[in-house]
Order: sequence, then C-alpha cells, then structure tokens
Amino acid sequence: MYRNFLKSFLDTQSLKAANKHSSKDLKYCNGLCQDLVAKTQFSSTKMICRSCMNTINLAKKQIEDQKITLEQFKKDPTIVYKNNNEEETKITIKKKCKTCKQEKNIIDFEKGRKECKSCRYIKHPNKIII
Ligand SMILES: [Zn+2]
Ligand SMILES: [Zn+2]
Repeated sequence: MYRNFLKSFLDTQSLKAANKHSSKDLKYCNGLCQDLVAKTQFSSTKMICRSCMNTINLAKKQIEDQKITLEQFKKDPTIVYKNNNEEETKITIKKKCKTCKQEKNIIDFEKGRKECKSCRYIKHPNKIII
C-alpha cells in the first residue's frame, strides 16, 4: 500500500473533498505531491500520479534490497534517485552515431535510430524531438 511510504496523506474523505473542488483537468495526488496535478499524469483510477508511483516503486525495491530504509525514504523521498544515479551511470550504454561518428549515451538517441538527437535536430529543425 503506497500510504506506508508517505509521511502524510489525505484520508479518503479529505481526498474526496479536495477532488470535488478542483477543476476537471486536475486531480489531487495523494502521493508525494500532496497537491493538484494534471489528470493526464495519472493512470486510470489511481490516487497517486505516475511519477509518485515510480518513486514509490523504486523505494520499494531499494528497501527490499536493503539499500535504504523506509524511514530514510519518508524523510527524503529523493534518496531513491541519489542511489539510482550511481547505478545508472555504471550501466550506461553507449552507441555510435552514424552521422557525427561520436560515441553518445543511449538516451541521446530516439528509439531505433542510428543517428543522435542533435544530428536529427540539425536536419529537421522544425520537428520537436524529445
Ligand atoms: Zn504525485
Ligand atoms: Zn550525431
């Protein structure tokens, strides 16, 4: 249950009230946000937004692996990313761009592309590439 991971959260009643008064595009995130968040950030009927869910899932895993404790997470939820960064840099995958011939991080490529985002951007400046 996600509530175990939170320092504070709204009970069902207050949550209902918070959502009642919000605009129809917003929904109260009862996770780490404790604030109104765009509805698009939620998956279906969940009470917490996707980013909070990811954070809590990471926390769950790291607590299981005994990297952090529940108390540490409650005090500072960003702790899961501090731990994760270390691991992520270790497993960073490199890929060579066929245009600029540079070895770049895999995240600098769109999925399945052999050309990096910067090169793609130079060729197609009007296309927004995330
Ligand atoms: Zn949230
Ligand atoms: Zn390139």
